[in-house]
Amino acid sequence: MYIYLPDIKSRSGENFDYRFNEELSDFYGDFSEGGTAQLIVKASHSGEEVMIRGSIEASVEAVCSRCLEPFVQKVKTNFTESFAVIKGSTAEETPLDLAVETANMLTVTGDVLYLDEYIRQLIILAEDHSPLCKPDCKGICSGCGADLNRHSCQCVEDDSDIDIRLLKLKELKSGDQV
Ligand SMILES: [Zn+2]
Ligand SMILES: [Zn+2]
Repeated sequence: MYIYLPDIKSRSGENFDYRFNEELSDFYGDFSEGGTAQLIVKASHSGEEVMIRGSIEASVEAVCSRCLEPFVQKVKTNFTESFAVIKGSTAEETPLDLAVETANMLTVTGDVLYLDEYIRQLIILAEDHSPLCKPDCKGICSGCGADLNRHSCQCVEDDSDIDIRLLKLKELKSGDQV
């Protein structure tokens, strides 16, 4: 995923449209196979900046935080960003380049603006970090460990045993008072 800057610099101020449909695992080692991202980007150039804005829709493998089953999480986010164009190549960074980078500004050197790392971070930020496979996921019973989406809880009988014992205890106590 990249934008070739001489194209947009040649018509400064105009918007250029880009679309990317990517397999996430082709770009990022930390995304499992099957994850995809659709990216729509408008890019323009003015002065010493490249502006991009657009939207991402990604499907990312996730594990439900309640039932621990794997599922595909849909991630959507919009972005607007400007990158400072710095002359020279990444191979020969000047002290100024380094100063700008340490100030946490997004920069681009050379003719190509690579979006991979920027997009990777956007997806990670947009991911739900306590994801649910479905809004009403019933989770796992802490007593018997049953996946309550598929099986009924096996602790029910135990619970009713306790209830009966408690009831008997109450009967005894009320008997004492008479
Ligand atoms: Zn779940
Ligand atoms: Zn249970």
